[in-house]
Parts: sequence; structure tokens; C-alpha cells
Amino acid sequence: MNVLITGGAGYIGSHVVLELSKTNHNIIVYDNLQKGHRGAVLAGKLIVGDLNDTDKLEHVCREYDIQGVMHFAADSLVGESMKDPAKYYKNNVGNAINLLEVMRKNGIKYMVFSSTAAVYGEPDRIPITEETLTNPTNVYGRTKLVIEEMLKDYDRAYGMKFITLRYFNASGADPSGQIGEDHSPETHLIPLVLYTALGKRESISIFGTDYPTRDGTCIRDYIHVSDLAQAHILALEALLAGSESKIYNLGNGEGYSVREVIDMVKKVTGRDFKVNESERRPGDPAILVASSAKARKELGWKPQYGDLQKIIETAWNWHKNNPDGFK
Ligand code: UDP
Repeated sequence: MNVLITGGAGYIGSHVVLELSKTNHNIIVYDNLQKGHRGAVLAGKLIVGDLNDTDKLEHVCREYDIQGVMHFAADSLVGESMKDPAKYYKNNVGNAINLLEVMRKNGIKYMVFSSTAAVYGEPDRIPITEETLTNPTNVYGRTKLVIEEMLKDYDRAYGMKFITLRYFNASGADPSGQIGEDHSPETHLIPLVLYTALGKRESISIFGTDYPTRDGTCIRDYIHVSDLAQAHILALEALLAGSESKIYNLGNGEGYSVREVIDMVKKVTGRDFKVNESERRPGDPAILVASSAKARKELGWKPQYGDLQKIIETAWNWHKNNPDGFK
């Protein structure tokens, strides 16, 4: 099948492109390269374009006879989304409407959609299942939830089929070392701690040490990006095999605290560095851990890089060999 991958030059998208290149699908990446990197796209054809350019998008879908879409392209910084909601509604929701309309007009029936654990907000129960109440506490999560709801309406009214994947904390890098995480600005814990180990930063700050957790720091469910990528391939296959529209959580089911991440980085890298304890970051729930039982059962998903050490080893392998990212 000919698959359009929006945001395929980004962190998660590029890992999916690499995994998808091991199947017999044809890959067409559509990315404006604002955050993505040309060098991250190791397979398929890269078309530099914006999702708000409906004419170009439509042209690409026709020219390459696109039959399915994996939609990654989005803005994803929580803090920025609170300061500039207009940007998020325009780029996330507005562009999703454009894309869905192009799909509808061209008879493209299948989409795998990148969503997020941020749709749950502060969950009342751990682990989080797909039935947990959605109640996003930030604009970013809200834009993803709005799109999820749109997808349900497009299915009901037009028969388009979607698999929505709600990611927990994507991390790690392809074990081959060819691609990895390269955000600017970087805000995620694991790359920031690794930058500190590399000496690119003076210290790492722990945002809050008084949470009701085993060591007082926040607990998150870190999921290896190659395992995430694998789930996308399975989701696409499920759609092609006639699956109904579905929503799945993607996480390890295992939580690690901020201190445990920092200690593991010290162990894996063999380097010591300065750690500060600072104030809580507004909006951080104490614990976010997924149940991914549904994805395992229905998609047959089997994560390979479950433990934190493997995640950090692959991320370290990427960062130490590419300290300036894709350049
Ligand atoms: N965090 C931290 N110091 C940092 C960056 C993050 O203590 O410099 C904490 C953050 O408060 C959260 C966890 O690390 O509890 C994971 O944060 P990240 O931004 O990586 O992902 P999020 O869970 O917010 O999506």
C-alpha cells in the first residue's frame, strides 16, 4: 500500500519510517522540516510541504495514489501550548481538518493517528486504561482529544477507519544508531540528562521532590521509540485487515521515577554530573503509567525494549555519537 506519513522527519515519525521500510509498503513522507530533519528520513520519498497547503497535499495524494495515512505532524510542547493556544488549534486541529478533508475527497479510508497520554490529564486511577476518563489539563492534550473526536465523527458519517495511538513517554533511539531524538528546544527528561552527562549542560534539575511517590519524584512510563514504531505497523495491518476504528495506549506498564532515570544514566554512561532539586513544574501529575493490555491482546504488540536500561543505552548510543543531533 502507498502510505503518506505526515511528520515523518520527526522523532517518532522517522523511527516509524525506518520500521515500515522493512515491510512491503511504499512510503511517502510529507513534512515541512520546521522541527523535523531531512537526515532522519532513511527510507521512502520525502516531500517538503505544509499541511495547510491543501493544494499541494491533494496533489501529492493523487500523484502517489495514497491509500493510507499515518499522521504524526503536530506541535507538541505543553508549555508553549498554554502560552499560544492559537498556534496549537491552527497547526494541530486546523491541519488535521485539512488532511481529513483531502482524505475524504480522495477516498483514502485509513489513518493511524498519533495521540498522547496528555488526553488523560490527572488520572484518578493507575494504570491508565483506554476507558480512563479523558480530561486534558493543557491545550496540547486538548487539541489531540479534539482530533480524536473528529475521527470518530468521520468514521460514523463517512466510514473512514482510524487507529488512535496514545503514547506515553517516547524515548530511546533506533538500536542501529542511525537516527534518534533531536528536538530544539529539548524539554524531555532523558535527552536532557544525557546532554548533562555529555557536558553540554552544567546540571540537571529535578522538578519536584515532594510528590507522593516512592522517592518523591514523578513517575512516568518510558516507552522505546522502536517499540512505538512497531505498534504503528501492527495498527496499519489491523486497519487493512478490516479492523474497526480503535484507540490504544502505548506504554510499558512500568513506571520509573525522575531519580531512577538520572541514576540509570549515571550507570549507563559511567559519568557523574550535578543534580539540582528544584520546584515542581506546573501541571505535572505525580504518576502516569499505562496499561497497554489492549494493544498487546488485539494488535499482538510485544515491546522488545521494556526496561529502562535498554532505553537509555540506545539513547546514549545516539547522543554520544551525534552530540549535535542531525546538524
Ligand atoms: N523533568 C525533570 N527535569 C527536567 C525535565 C523533566 O525533573 O529537566 C521531569 C518532569 O517534571 C516529569 C518527568 O521528568 O515528571 C518527565 O518529563 P518529560 O518532559 O520528559 O515528559 P512528560 O511526562 O512531561 O511528557
